[in-house]
Amino acid sequence: MTSGAGRFAPSPSGELHVGNLRTALLAWLFARSTGRRFILRVEDLDRARAGAEEVQLRDLAAVGLDWDGEVVRQTERGGLYEDAIARLTAAGLTYECFCTRREIQEAPSAPHAPQGAYPGTCRDLSEAERARRRAERPAAIRLRASVTEWAVTDALHGRYAGIVDDFVLRRNDGVVAYNLAVVVDDAAQGIDQVVRGDDLLPSTPRQAYLAGLLGARVPEYAHVPLVLNRAGRRLAKRDGAVTLAALAEAGVPAERVTALLLGSLGLPDTPPEALAAFRPQELPRAPWVLDPRELTPSMGAPPAGRTVVREGSSNLRVRR
Ligand SMILES: [Zn+2]
Repeated sequence: MTSGAGRFAPSPSGELHVGNLRTALLAWLFARSTGRRFILRVEDLDRARAGAEEVQLRDLAAVGLDWDGEVVRQTERGGLYEDAIARLTAAGLTYECFCTRREIQEAPSAPHAPQGAYPGTCRDLSEAERARRRAERPAAIRLRASVTEWAVTDALHGRYAGIVDDFVLRRNDGVVAYNLAVVVDDAAQGIDQVVRGDDLLPSTPRQAYLAGLLGARVPEYAHVPLVLNRAGRRLAKRDGAVTLAALAEAGVPAERVTALLLGSLGLPDTPPEALAAFRPQELPRAPWVLDPRELTPSMGAPPAGRTVVREGSSNLRVRR
C-alpha cells in the first residue's frame, strides 16, 4: 500500500472514445493494483465544451470506474499556477517571449539546440527591448531551462530521455500551459503515479524537469499504447461508432465495451476481475489497431481480421 494517488485527466472537449476509455481503465488498474487513490481531474483550461464533463464522468462510471474525492477542475486552480510562475520568476527562471509562432518556425536554431526546441530568441532581451515589445503584443512566459535534455524512467518504456527547451509556462493569451498546470496539479494532489497515452511521453522530460525546479517529487510514469485506426493514426471520433453513446445506439452496451477493452489488454471482462489479474509487465506494448466495425458487427461489414466480439450480434440486440 502507498499513500499516493494515480489519476485520469481528460480534456472536456467532447465525448470520450474507446481509446480514451481504455487509457482510463489502465490508469485505474495501475492505481488500484498498487493501493493508490484514484483521482479524476478535468483539464479544462483550453478546449472545454459545455456539458462534456458531465458526459465524460457518466461514461467513466459506465465502464465500471470509481474515483476518490471530488473531481478537480483546472479552471478553479488558477491561483496555484500563478503562484508557481511567481516562484519560478523570483528565482530568475522565467522570461517574457514575444515571438509569433511563425517567427519561431523561421528562426535559425541556436547552436546545439535540439530539433523542435524553442531557439531562445527572447532569452536575453534587454529591459528596453522588452518594454518596446510589450507595447506591440502581450508576452508569453517561458521557462529559462538550464538543460537541453532530461531523462525519466517509465514503467513500460524504461529510461526515456527527451528535449527540454525554454518551453511556455503561460501563453500570450493568458492561458496557463499544459506542461505547467499538469506538474503543479500532480504535486498539489499528491499524485505519484502518472498513467496516460504514450503520445505524451515526449513532453514528460520537460514536466519531470519542471517538477524538480518546483521542489516536487517526480511521479512514477507509465505511458501506455494508444488505440489506432486501420490507417495507423490515433483513433478519433470520425473513425466510426467509437463512443459509448454511439455504441449503445448500435446495440452494444457499456459492459460489453468494457469487456472488449479489457480483452484487448489480455484481461478478463470486468474491472474487479481485471484488477485481480492485472500484471503491468504483461501488458501489450504495441498499439491496439482497431477497425471500429469490429465493435458493431451487426451494423456493417463482417468483422475483418481479428474478431474482438465474442458473442453473436443477435445477442447484442437482445441485450439492448
Ligand atoms: Zn520569443
